[in-house]
Amino acid sequence: MNQIIILIFVALSITSCTAAKAVVAMNKSTNQFIALEQDKRILYEKGAEKYAETVANKIDTAIQTVEQKQYKKFTKPVTIYICNSIESFTDYCVIRQASGCVLNERLFLSPKNFQANQQALTHELSHLHIEQHLGMFTWHSGYPAWFQEGLATYVLSPSFNVY
Ligand SMILES: [Zn+2]
Repeated sequence: MNQIIILIFVALSITSCTAAKAVVAMNKSTNQFIALEQDKRILYEKGAEKYAETVANKIDTAIQTVEQKQYKKFTKPVTIYICNSIESFTDYCVIRQASGCVLNERLFLSPKNFQANQQALTHELSHLHIEQHLGMFTWHSGYPAWFQEGLATYVLSPSFNVY
C-alpha cells in the first residue's frame, strides 16, 4: 500500500520529459527487448537494432560527460531501452513528444531521436545518474523540474565550462 502511495506521488511530481503515468509504466514488462550483441547494457525492440548500435557507439562518451559534470561515478550499471515505435515508447514514458525518460532506474529512448540521439542519451543519463545517487523518491519529489532539467542542460552545454 505504501509503495502505491509513493508511486502515485512520484507520478504526480515527475517532470515533463519523464512519465506522468509512472504507476502503470513502472510495472510494464520489458521482456520483449533484446540485448545488443556488442553491448549488453543496451536493449532494443525488434526493428530498432540500428539505433541501438548508434547508442552503443556513443554511450561511453555520454557516461563520461555526465560523471565529469555531476562529479561522481554512476553507482550502478546503466540499462538503456531503445523503443521501436512512438507507441511503444509512450507505453513507458507516456509523453509522445519526449525524447526519453528515466523510469525506476531504466532509461528509455524514443525512436524519434535517431538523428539527435547523443543529446537525448546524455540528457537522460543525467537524470539516471541523480536518481541512482538519491533514489527515485527523493529525486522526483525533492527537486523541482527546473533544477532537474537545468542540470541536464548544463551537462549538455560545453559553453558552461567557460566563466
Ligand atoms: Zn529531462
